[in-house]
Amino acid sequence: MDFSLTEEQKLFKQQVIEFAQKEIMPGATERDEQARFDRDVWDKAAEFGLMGLPFPEEYGGSGASVFETVLAGEALGYGSLDAGFCLSWGAHVTIGGVPIWQLGTEEQKRKYLPKIASGEWIAGLGLTEPEAGSDAAGIKTTAEKKDGYYVLNGTKTFITNGPVGDVFVVLAKTDKEKGAAGISGFIVEKGFPGFSVGKEIHKMGNRSSPTSELIFDNCEVPAENLLGEENKGFMDVALATLEWERSVMLAPAIGGMEIQLETCVKYARERKQFGRPIAHFQAIQFKLADMKVWLETARLIVYKVAWNKDQGIMDPLMASVAKLYVSEVSMKSAEEAVQIHGGYGYTKEYPIERAIRDAKLATLGGGTSEIQRWIIGRLLVGKA
Ligand SMILES: Cc1cc2nc3c(=O)[nH]c(=O)nc-3n(C[C@H](O)[C@H](O)[C@H](O)COP(=O)(O)OP(=O)(O)OC[C@H]3O[C@@H](n4cnc5c(N)ncnc54)[C@H](O)[C@@H]3O)c2cc1C
Repeated sequence: MDFSLTEEQKLFKQQVIEFAQKEIMPGATERDEQARFDRDVWDKAAEFGLMGLPFPEEYGGSGASVFETVLAGEALGYGSLDAGFCLSWGAHVTIGGVPIWQLGTEEQKRKYLPKIASGEWIAGLGLTEPEAGSDAAGIKTTAEKKDGYYVLNGTKTFITNGPVGDVFVVLAKTDKEKGAAGISGFIVEKGFPGFSVGKEIHKMGNRSSPTSELIFDNCEVPAENLLGEENKGFMDVALATLEWERSVMLAPAIGGMEIQLETCVKYARERKQFGRPIAHFQAIQFKLADMKVWLETARLIVYKVAWNKDQGIMDPLMASVAKLYVSEVSMKSAEEAVQIHGGYGYTKEYPIERAIRDAKLATLGGGTSEIQRWIIGRLLVGKA
């Protein structure tokens, strides 16, 4: 296992950092304050080539590996200071685009992937429902087959990119009697009759990423938009997206931890108390040391998940370890960053307070920390 970057990869990462610093970082504070998704920023990132990185070139993508897509995520987190943008990007690529690429028919891939890869269409995943979060197999949205269509009824909630999305992978029950084995995946376009965007959800962090309900009221989805096999959607979509979600979507948090650490080192060297820089106090050095350990270990775990995926190795335990560890240490790192900045860290003068609000999401979305511990524990001891 060799995680050293080739010259080409180093250059690519640096180019994404520079792009993010120039085109995304300016305005990130305002977008957070206003909870505003900026389509111009999205289009610039699309033009730069970020929206279709992992998809094959024949479908408009760049054919990047999972590892290279992780590098892009890390660079975005480092350079943009806009966790919301990174969330929308991650959802678009990994839980919106990847299932269509992995499970779609040739026709579906030709129809949807080029639009997703170019960023013209924004993608997302509709799984969670008001009464089915951690218990995702408990969804109630139904899909009934009638005259060449599936008719969907139900409500999804917490959907990243909901208000701005053009196409969603939606999971619904095709067999109400069964749990996970009665769920199918569908590709739903925003223009389909009976589809609408429900209430927008206002959040404490990641505020430039729009979140909403999706409503299906006798929504007519052409039968050819079934994604994968009927009744196999739950496992297939989960398997298709697992390592993507638990490497690429976590990568921006690593870039975020790195810029936070650099900012804290600089601040600790400059801020003087008791006649000397606070960096001279061991209590501050210990915090910086912890932040460095969290950063490096988080990066290694995420690289390992990406590397596994690139080698075709399925390792769900490691994917859950990554999700749990990265989300928890990025939260701890953000807390220490505020502490090092003292009272100023608690103000809007520095983007540090935002880091706490942003970091918290990873311990909740895409399977909470409790659910990750549960999965890891079960994989260790078996189901008995
Ligand atoms: C900003 C944001 C964006 C999101 N984006 C998407 C998206 O794009 N698409 C999508 O489908 N979903 C999305 N989600 C939904 C997300 O995946 C869920 O919020 C998450 O799975 C948790 O579900 P819940 O919120 O219903 O919490 P609940 O499942 O109600 O959990 C509440 C608490 O109970 C704990 N708990 C539940 N079951 C157990 C158990 N068996 N053992 C121990 N503890 C348990 C949980 O860990 C948690 O602490 C998003 C959520 C957020 C906040």
